[in-house]
Amino acid sequence: MIHFKILTLFPELFPGPLAASITGAALTKKLWSFAAINIRDYAKDKHQTVDDTPYGGGAGMVLKADVIAEAIENSRSTQHEARSTNENSRSTKHEARSTKFVYLSPRGKVFNQKMARELAKEEEITILCGRYEGVDQRVLDEFQIEEISIGDYVLSGGEIAAFVFIDAILRNISGVLGADESLSEESFGSEKNSAFKNLLEYPHYTKPQEWRGRKVPEILTTGHHKKIAEWRKEQAIALTKKIRPDLHQI
Ligand code: SAH
Repeated sequence: MIHFKILTLFPELFPGPLAASITGAALTKKLWSFAAINIRDYAKDKHQTVDDTPYGGGAGMVLKADVIAEAIENSRSTQHEARSTNENSRSTKHEARSTKFVYLSPRGKVFNQKMARELAKEEEITILCGRYEGVDQRVLDEFQIEEISIGDYVLSGGEIAAFVFIDAILRNISGVLGADESLSEESFGSEKNSAFKNLLEYPHYTKPQEWRGRKVPEILTTGHHKKIAEWRKEQAIALTKKIRPDLHQI
């Protein structure tokens, strides 16, 4: 079971949309778990200050390195204790390495399906959600946290990015999707089926066969599986060339 540890100033937002539908059912089935940790609980002063003005000037506030470090270290040790009582054979050192650390940030490497697939193999992922101008660089350097972006635009906080990130990872975990086939032919392809690698998905149709004068492509109603597969592949290639020529060249 994959575990997500989310460091955030808004823990009440979780699991939020992840509690619905496929990811929600997977949560109930214990195919994944999460802990939302409130960064503010680790503030040191009586006002529970988590941010301060940036050195060098400029607008906005920066999340403090010491507060975030405290949140990271504290949540780490709790996890070790919990695990070491359950699994005595594992050493604490090994546990410390078993969490993958990510800071969701517009500056990071852009998240994609391949990364989602790789990350789905992790045992635990710790996600740091920023707010305001972001976090003090030193805490990222100190804990060697990898920065991942969900796209080239700026959000107000890392929480919405975390929903996207977690959802995309969960779809790659066995049992989360109803039928494994629905994963193998999705946009961008999968590990099991390279036929759709770097391709967008072909169009889908359901009943009725005619709607507002628009008919379902005839081939799909023939029951000829091989020809249908060929048609879908052609459609996927044509769509990708038109909408995402950059992907098609990869
Ligand atoms: N000053 C920063 C932006 C801060 S936005 C900059 O220009 O790079 C506030 C927070 O939102 C960030 O700390 C990050 O956690 C989150 N965030 C914003 N855009 C994001 C994106 N594209 N991907 C992932 N996280 C993002």
